[in-house]
Amino acid sequence: MHEVSVALSVLDIAAENCKKAGYGRIDSIRLKIGRASGVMTDALLFAFEAIKIDTIAAGAIVIIDEIPVGGSCAGCGKDFVTEEAYVFCCPECGGLSFKVNTGRELEIIDMEVS
Ligand SMILES: [Zn+2]
Repeated sequence: MHEVSVALSVLDIAAENCKKAGYGRIDSIRLKIGRASGVMTDALLFAFEAIKIDTIAAGAIVIIDEIPVGGSCAGCGKDFVTEEAYVFCCPECGGLSFKVNTGRELEIIDMEVS
């Protein structure tokens, strides 16, 4: 499952930053995940619960900010945001010439340590 490897790398990065800052426990991790990133947030949370045991993140809560897919269309010039995970054409004019600006995010926004 893709989400397990994502959860593992999130945990790795978080643990490294936590130790580097001189702390021994991660209390929470806030993630930004775009709907078009291919990551299922439920599966990611589930995976994290399983892998955090016996790590410095054992008591950590994961908070996920889901970012909708948004872009700008070269045809009609409008910026759009959609509830869909994928965009095949501009929702405003149906044009195929658009740029996706948001929705592919997969990053740690911040974390609380102690
Ligand atoms: Zn358009």
